[in-house]
Amino acid sequence: MISPLLALNDGHRMPQLGFGLWQVPGPVTADVTATALRLGYRLIDGAAAYRNEEGQGAGLRDSTLPRDQIFVTTKIWNSDQGFDATLRAAEASLARLGLDHVDLLLIHWPCPSRDLYPDTWHALIRLREEGRARSIGVSNFNEGHLQRIIGETGVVPVVNQIEINPRLQQPALRAFHAAHGIVTQSWTPLGQGRSFDAPPVLAAAARTGRSPAQIILRWHIQIGAAVIPRSTREAGLRENLNLFDFSLTDAEMAAIATLDEASRCGPDPAVFEMQ
Ligand code: NAD
Repeated sequence: MISPLLALNDGHRMPQLGFGLWQVPGPVTADVTATALRLGYRLIDGAAAYRNEEGQGAGLRDSTLPRDQIFVTTKIWNSDQGFDATLRAAEASLARLGLDHVDLLLIHWPCPSRDLYPDTWHALIRLREEGRARSIGVSNFNEGHLQRIIGETGVVPVVNQIEINPRLQQPALRAFHAAHGIVTQSWTPLGQGRSFDAPPVLAAAARTGRSPAQIILRWHIQIGAAVIPRSTREAGLRENLNLFDFSLTDAEMAAIATLDEASRCGPDPAVFEMQ
């Protein structure tokens, strides 16, 4: 089943559900990408840092779908921050993907101590003006980082891709996004399985006959987030796509809300600086 589309603040639209390519080995990336597109996914979340953009591009070319029906994301890695370096990195990503534009280009991490993310944002604005990125956004930005780039440029990112799962629900940042027309996109949406056996998840799974993973992904959909689970298995890709023929009740959503512990699987964006 094809994902619903979310309206972005620049007038474009983005599939709410996609799939992610982090840690997908280069040699299988083309096959995973092509399989996912065949099954019905229309958004592919990649990044220069995943070192599999060539496979991402090859998988796209394997598909018979028109380019304008596929939403391609990539990201500028930390060591490529700064105005000129970002322009060069985007061109290198496009060359590896074999595309003349991506649908969404993100700054992967703010790396606040280097203080290059505002210049990097200026470069993304330039790339959008040049048609190399149709939409531009950020990832792992906190409210302060968002306020700074919006204040300096007046350009609001369309998306902030952040870690969200039932143990890390980020309600304050999501409220900031909602107030500024920024779509929240959830990474590590399954939270390394750490809520698969939580009673509210198991209860909803028992009522609906769905798996814990499907319950958690459906929770993301119902909080209004976009979501990009990863699976390299066809059965897993299929399972994670089947989220739109059932729904969680208000009581089930409220029960899952109680699982928030503000605890991360991944690094803290306030200090993560890996180059
Ligand atoms: P995920 O939450 O998608 O989980 C992936 C793991 O869950 C894999 O081990 C997979 O085999 C397993 N899994 C998948 N479907 C399952 C199912 N139905 N039942 C049981 N297990 C299942 O984690 P992720 O890959 O960390 O995050 C998803 C995507 O988010 C990444 O591929 C990447 O595109 C993106 N991401 C972005 C950032 C960022 O900094 N912007 C960081 C991490 C991930």
